[in-house]
Parts: sequence; structure tokens; C-alpha cells
Amino acid sequence: MLRNVSLWSDGGFVGLDASSPKASYDIAIIGGGFSGLWSAFHLNKLDPSLKIAIFEAKSLGFGASGRNGGWASSEYPVYTGTLKKRIGDARTEQLFEALNCSIDEIGEFSRNYDDVGFVKSGSLYFARNQAQLRRLKGKVDGANALLSASEVSERLKVSGVVGGVFNPTCATINPFNLVKALATHLQKRGVSIFEGAWANPISGGVLVNSSLVKAPVVIQATEAFGAPGREFIPLYSLMVATEPLSDATWKEIGNAERFTFAENSHMINYAQRTTDNRIAIGGRGATYPFGSKLSESKESTAKVHETIRRLLKSWFPVLQDVNFTDSWGGAVAVTRNWEPYVQWRPHEGFARLGGYAGDGVTMSHLAAKILAHEILDMKNELRKLHFVNQKIRKWEPEPIRYLGVNTLVKLSGIADAEERITGRASLLNRVIEPLILR
Ligand SMILES: Cc1cc2nc3c(=O)[nH]c(=O)nc-3n(C[C@H](O)[C@H](O)[C@H](O)COP(=O)(O)OP(=O)(O)OC[C@H]3O[C@@H](n4cnc5c(N)ncnc54)[C@H](O)[C@@H]3O)c2cc1C
Repeated sequence: MLRNVSLWSDGGFVGLDASSPKASYDIAIIGGGFSGLWSAFHLNKLDPSLKIAIFEAKSLGFGASGRNGGWASSEYPVYTGTLKKRIGDARTEQLFEALNCSIDEIGEFSRNYDDVGFVKSGSLYFARNQAQLRRLKGKVDGANALLSASEVSERLKVSGVVGGVFNPTCATINPFNLVKALATHLQKRGVSIFEGAWANPISGGVLVNSSLVKAPVVIQATEAFGAPGREFIPLYSLMVATEPLSDATWKEIGNAERFTFAENSHMINYAQRTTDNRIAIGGRGATYPFGSKLSESKESTAKVHETIRRLLKSWFPVLQDVNFTDSWGGAVAVTRNWEPYVQWRPHEGFARLGGYAGDGVTMSHLAAKILAHEILDMKNELRKLHFVNQKIRKWEPEPIRYLGVNTLVKLSGIADAEERITGRASLLNRVIEPLILR
């Protein structure tokens, strides 16, 4: 069975029963990541009599759900400023309330599963130059508190820090253990889960490894693995993990609380202190594959892994000689305007959810909850959120897409270098930002 090779999945095994699918179910779910598992969770909670089956082509958590940075945050793929322009302040606030509620519900669920390591101890974005700090100041609101350099250092001793913003709503998790916990929970509640089950939606059900399984409702929860066309592109996020660090080293770094942390650069990065005292850190920078064709080699782009290792050492010089034990990567799906999608077509019995970019840990819980209410046509204010049942804006055709996306990936790295040198907001970024539609 193909497994993901991330730090998290080491020794991880869900232990599914090996029976064959039945001839029919009420609901067939394609994809055994968070979207598929949470969809089953919410549907089962709303109507325990439903016969639900999940079909996973490889092994549960094989995709991004089993490989990610473990930030269960209220971050939404679209920048808050852009979102407010698109949908207004009130609806933006409603969305963040819904995301915060999902974080708490993930916490509630995880309470019975210690190894998920759920700790709601917030997230810290720090600035290492004045341009980063100015951008952070723009984020300050009721949820994001501005910290001075010394206030950041009391929490996390980052070299060259000039300030930061702390948000208390984010939680840290071990993502693969959350996948396992969900599978365990669902199996106990009678949901059937099949690994090695390649499934395709067809009229009236799904073809599973070429055999017909009937189901009046099919949910596609395959995120970056689905046929992209021009609706979303896969972007690669790569991660590395250090060996477990000694108590003495952690004393020099700080973060006894295990909050998540990141530098506020243009090039996305994210880190967490794991339950076994490593640092797991990720970042972007791998190039976009032509035609959105998934490519495993992108997951192990050596140059990007090395850049991430160097970034971590630049934050914490005490880690100069640390050993890195793991490196891996995975794809996230990004729509043209960075909005996720939750779609239900009752006349076709077909639903799909995804497009979370790098913010799917909490979003998948929320999207699945909305979808469950849509499918069962149950009253819930969340169904009014702006991205529900919206048409997906298409990406440009190739080769424009390939040239455009990869140019922007490169330029955001250059914009960071420009800000490091000048301490002023990157001029280059002024050109990039309107093109990203984020
Ligand atoms: C390295 C990395 C770091 C990240 N860090 C964070 C983070 O810290 N916080 C955050 O919020 N988000 C993060 N993300 C994003 C987040 O992990 C994803 O948005 C989320 O896990 C998506 O869940 P999913 O179930 O929709 O997709 P996936 O987890 O990708 O699951 C899709 C599943 O569908 C299966 N599948 C595909 N085709 C078929 C088929 N035909 N039949 C059956 N099964 C099929 C795949 O094998 C896969 O297991 C990160 C992503 C990556 C790659």
C-alpha cells in the first residue's frame, strides 16, 4: 500500500478491515483525506442511519492531509483585505467566526485522541525587517495583537526580530494522527472505509477499481489529485523536520506553549514544535508543473528543502549543527481567485469540495460541515457563506499559466530579498500583488 513519506506517517497505520465494498451505499465519498473524512463525520452526525463508504485510492492520509504543517488556523486562502473588498466586513467576520468554531470543534473531537496533540496555543507571525513589520501592522485587529520585538523574544527568540503579531485562535496538531483518529471514529460509527480503492464518479454511483458501486450521492474530495482542467492548479509545499531538540535548546528558543510560528515574508513559510520536540517547518518555492500535471519529483525539490533548512537556521543560530531527519512535500489546490469551493448539484447527486490552497486543515472541516447540510437540505446559516455553490473562476490557458505562475513564484523570493536589503516594502510586490488575485 502506498503511504505518504512525511514525518507524521512514520509507523502510522489505521488498521482498516479488508472487506470488499457492498453493491450500494447511500453516499459514496471519493478521497480519504480531511475533506472526505469530515464529510462522512458530519453526514453521520446529522443522520446516523446513512450508509456511507469512503474510497481512498492509496492509503488514508496519503495526500496533503497526512503531510501538512499541522496549523489548524482560522486563516483563509484569500487575504482578509481582499475579502473585505469582495464581500464586505460583516460577511468576512461571519466567515472567521465559522472558522474559529471549526477549530474548536476539531479540538472537541481530538479530546478523545491524545496523539492528535491538539493544543490551541495560537500562532506567532514575526517580522525581521521593517517592511515585514509594516505589513503585519496592517493585520492588527481584534484577533491579531501587535507585539514589540522584546515581546516576541519573550515567546520565541528569533534572530533579528523587529516585532510580531500574535493570534490566539490557531491550534497545533499532528495531522496524520488526526486522519487516524477520524478513521477510527468513523469505523466505530459504521462508516465503511476502503484503501487501494481507485474511484471515479459515474451516473448513479462510482466505479471502484472498475466495479460499479451504486450510490445516489457521490462526493468528490480529491483536492489536488482531481482532474484540474483550468479550475485549480497544484502548487507544491515542502517540509523538513529536525531531530528532537534537547530541553536546553528549547530553553534558548522558547515556545514552551507549542504555538505555531512563521516569518511574515512574501514566500510562504510555517513551522510548529511537534509533540516530540522537533521543529517541523515548511515553505513554498517549488515550481508549478506544466499543464497542472502532478509530479512526485516536485515533492522532493532539493533546492527548496535546503532553502527551508537555511531559513530555520537563520531564525535560530543555536540550530547551526542540528540534524534534519525528514524531508517531504505535497500539493495543494489553488483556484484562480484563491476561493475554496463547496458545490452540491442535487439533480446529479454530485458534490465536491476543495481549493483550500495551504489552509485546508480547518477549512476542510468547515467545508464538509456545509456540504453535509447542503446534501441533507438542513437549515444552517453556514450555507449562506459566500463561496458555497459558486462557479469556480478559471485559470488562464497554458502556456500563459505556466509562465505566469512560475514567474510570480520566482518574483516573490526576489521581493523578500529586496525587503531584506532596503527595509522598505518591495516595489516588485506592488506589481505582483494585483496579478495574484489574492
Ligand atoms: C506540505 C503541506 C503543508 C500544509 N500545511 C498546512 C497547514 O499547516 N495548515 C493548513 O490548514 N493546511 C495545510 N496544508 C493544506 C492541507 O493539508 C490541505 O488543504 C488538506 O489536507 C486537504 O485535504 P483534502 O482531504 O481535501 O485533500 P487530500 O488530503 O489531498 O486528500 C485527497 C485524497 O484523495 C485521494 N484520491 C485522489 N484521487 C482519488 C480517486 N480517483 N479515488 C480515490 N481516492 C482518490 C488521494 O489519494 C488523497 O488521499 C498543507 C499542505 C501541504 C501539502
